[in-house]
Amino acid sequence: MKLGKDKVGRFHYALSDVNGIEIENSHDGEPVTYLHGHGNVLSALERELEGAGEGDSLTIELSADEAYGRRREGAVQRVPIKHLSHQGKLRKGSIATVHTDDGHRQVTVVKVGKFNADVDFNHPLAGHDLRFDVEIIEVRDGLAEEIAHGHAHGPGGHHH
Ligand code: ZN
Repeated sequence: MKLGKDKVGRFHYALSDVNGIEIENSHDGEPVTYLHGHGNVLSALERELEGAGEGDSLTIELSADEAYGRRREGAVQRVPIKHLSHQGKLRKGSIATVHTDDGHRQVTVVKVGKFNADVDFNHPLAGHDLRFDVEIIEVRDGLAEEIAHGHAHGPGGHHH
């Protein structure tokens, strides 16, 4: 079976920048489970996965424009530290989550003060050309319920 509209794919991936520096790797945890054709993964990634089958290994290179976009200037804002959630000590370079009117956003800490921190609202991967090494573990038909919801269920997918 090949990946296409309304198929569910499970895959492991290693994400690195174009210099081969690893950024993320799913092999430490669950593979990603997604419903193809519903915008659940980056659209450029989905386009490259189209037609791939179980057991296939693909190397997919995306420009920053195709991945998380270019960095925007003026995206640094001062926010109260109590509005940030993060793991470990908050320091320059930490990735934190901030609650905004639009929901949760991942931000990168630029400077930490006593009560406030300057954070960069650019996506941490904005401005980076990326390389995905993908290993397709399973391709199956999407269930009617999954297609109706627009996402995959089960391990690595949505839980209700
Ligand atoms: Zn659902």
